[in-house]
Amino acid sequence: MNRRARVEKLRRMLNEQGLDGILITQPRNSLYLSGFGPSVQPDEIAGALLITEDDSILMTSFIYLEQAEREAPAFRLFKVERGDEGMVKALSGLLEEMGAKRVGFEAEHLTFARYQKWASIAAELVATSGLVEEIRAIKDQEEIEAIRRAVALADETSAHLREYIRPGLTEREVVWEAEVYMRQRGAEKIAFDLIVAGGPNGALPHATTTERALREGEPIVIDIGARVESYHSDLTRTIYLGEPDAKFQEVYTLVRRAQESALGGIRAGMKGKEADGLARQVIEEAGYGEYFGHGLGHGVGLAVHEKPRVTQTSEEELQPGMTLTVEPGIYIPGWGGVRIEDLVVIGEEGVEVLSKASKEPTLLSPGIL
Ligand code: ZN
Ligand code: ZN
Repeated sequence: MNRRARVEKLRRMLNEQGLDGILITQPRNSLYLSGFGPSVQPDEIAGALLITEDDSILMTSFIYLEQAEREAPAFRLFKVERGDEGMVKALSGLLEEMGAKRVGFEAEHLTFARYQKWASIAAELVATSGLVEEIRAIKDQEEIEAIRRAVALADETSAHLREYIRPGLTEREVVWEAEVYMRQRGAEKIAFDLIVAGGPNGALPHATTTERALREGEPIVIDIGARVESYHSDLTRTIYLGEPDAKFQEVYTLVRRAQESALGGIRAGMKGKEADGLARQVIEEAGYGEYFGHGLGHGVGLAVHEKPRVTQTSEEELQPGMTLTVEPGIYIPGWGGVRIEDLVVIGEEGVEVLSKASKEPTLLSPGIL
């Protein structure tokens, strides 16, 4: 694990920004840099990393102390009293000792209320945005291997659901089946609230799972993902119970063509919006542009949604080693939706598609035959 190289990259960024150090409170960023806290919730403050030019300190309280010692051996442990007062006191002491004047904090994570309390430390707190996230966007081999395992588990689950699904099952029953299946086969947890959206429910890109029963003659959007070794997968397939009608065939074929255009055309060096355009153009030319209301994809790693953004406006440059979802969709109110989502890794020439789940939409389940 080349955590040291990650910290060095961050130090170069601090230098460019004229900062004497940075406080890392975002748990996924702490995990990425130090190894500490795979079990810490993304919105929790379980401590902070204080990284300066020549020191790497993990500040945490009694609750996490032993865990931190095990998980982050390369960091100097510093015990703080619980609560904001404890943190302010410890920080002030450390920064004074180091002579640090300007210290960055993660503006996207530290709440305003907490900032107001922490701002009483001896040094100036400077807002930073997305520094560690930028380093995280490019994955090393070990990270890609973990993502591959998470993807394989989602693929297996997708295959299992193709056997399991039949008319009459509710969306919630299918979600639960997928969840249990993944957990029994090694997922630490599910990557997000899984989505099974039948018929009109599928017209909402982030549908809430309901008690509605699946029926023949409707599209069903299934969006699943697993977490393995702290890394995620994200996979969507759309199926149709029974023989697809002309409308479904038209929409499905179009989404599939749009996805193929992106999978075949994405190259390192492109901007996010150019990648998005590869799929969007196909859908727009067929007259369905207004029904593709979200970006083409997003990075996936320690978080399910992370850099890079691949949207109509994204100026972010795609680079080798980035992982990315490619997920065009068409959502028609009252009718339903079709989305096909794969996870890819960007290479020197084109992308490698990690997802292998079947894209055959027709499902002739035992309940129909
Ligand atoms: Zn998804
Ligand atoms: Zn996604």
